[in-house]
Amino acid sequence: GFNCGIVGLPNVGKSTIFNAITSAGAESANYPFCTIDPNVGIVQVPDPRIDQLSAIVKPQKCQFTTIEFVDIAGLVKGASAGEGLGNQFLGHIRSVDAVVHVVRCFDDDNVVHVAGKVSPADDIEIINTELALSDLDTLEKKVLRAEKLARSGDKKAKEEVALYERIKGLLEQGKKVRDCAENEDERIWLRDLHLLTAKPVLYVANVAEDDLEGKHPFVAQVREIAAAEGAGVVVICGKIEAEIAELDGDEKLAFLQEMGLQESGLDRLIRAGYDLLGLITYFTAGVKEVRAWTITRGTKAPQAAGVIHSDFEKGFIRAEVIGFEDYIACNGESGAKEKGLMRLEGKEYVVKDGDVMHFRFNV
Ligand code: GDP
Repeated sequence: GFNCGIVGLPNVGKSTIFNAITSAGAESANYPFCTIDPNVGIVQVPDPRIDQLSAIVKPQKCQFTTIEFVDIAGLVKGASAGEGLGNQFLGHIRSVDAVVHVVRCFDDDNVVHVAGKVSPADDIEIINTELALSDLDTLEKKVLRAEKLARSGDKKAKEEVALYERIKGLLEQGKKVRDCAENEDERIWLRDLHLLTAKPVLYVANVAEDDLEGKHPFVAQVREIAAAEGAGVVVICGKIEAEIAELDGDEKLAFLQEMGLQESGLDRLIRAGYDLLGLITYFTAGVKEVRAWTITRGTKAPQAAGVIHSDFEKGFIRAEVIGFEDYIACNGESGAKEKGLMRLEGKEYVVKDGDVMHFRFNV
């Protein structure tokens, strides 16, 4: 599965948010993860379109799609130099697909701040510096290895050295590896190095209970930094989310209504994480089951079919596709067919978010 690692300084609310996510989610699981065991939680991705489809199809059951969140606690200043269990924590970040960076934007004298005062800009800088230092370290090792090969006449290694040196220079200027590739080749080259600042990032401003809209200047600091990086920001209050997560369906709705909210902050966060990972959803809608399936943006029909079963991909003939809006507007498949809104698509079709699909395949 695809996963987001939750990072941030100690005492910013990572565990609070992680626990809320997993207790609100359908399932949660703890399983070993490298040498130490940070928590891994599998959560359902909320999607109101499932309800809309179900209202038409009336299936026996529904299945939402899921993503994983990993609580990566323990990142501190000096981690890249091996401070604390620094290197292990950085290793955990290496193995996630995207980074959710939690930033403390609440004042609370009862909650100690590691640096003595709440300062989102400084906190972000500390974490981002550790990530960049770790990448510099990785690149230096790669350069040494590549230089050896280059001396023995390896042309490709020479190019590698040049690329790594350029990226090192950019990192030293405060750039992130994700913004450094100049072409597709470089992007793939860099991707395979699993550098930490190459991963997409989303900032979470963890606000006080009385600042759900994120009006505090702390949040403005986060927004400013995120905007400069082209990253997204989700404003949530971990403490309130933890309370909401304890409620069951009806109580939750009542609570949200009372607060004047459409949905919980966690639902927003989970969806933002899904988007950050570059994921979209297509549906299958039958009387047995209405189900959401996850693909990466840009996936073509046969590979999308392969998510259901590898035989669907191997024997792919065609896909019957109805756009989500059409499906709903025509009150289901037969209505869409009558209006000529069901399309037959071939191997090159790029699946769109919300497509309702039925695959034809050879066995
Ligand atoms: P972590 O070290 O980043 O995982 O932080 P925790 O989730 O353990 O939170 C540290 C402390 O901050 C705990 O005592 C939480 O109850 C408290 N905390 C977390 N989120 C909030 C919040 O939104 N508002 C307030 N006032 N306290 C919070």
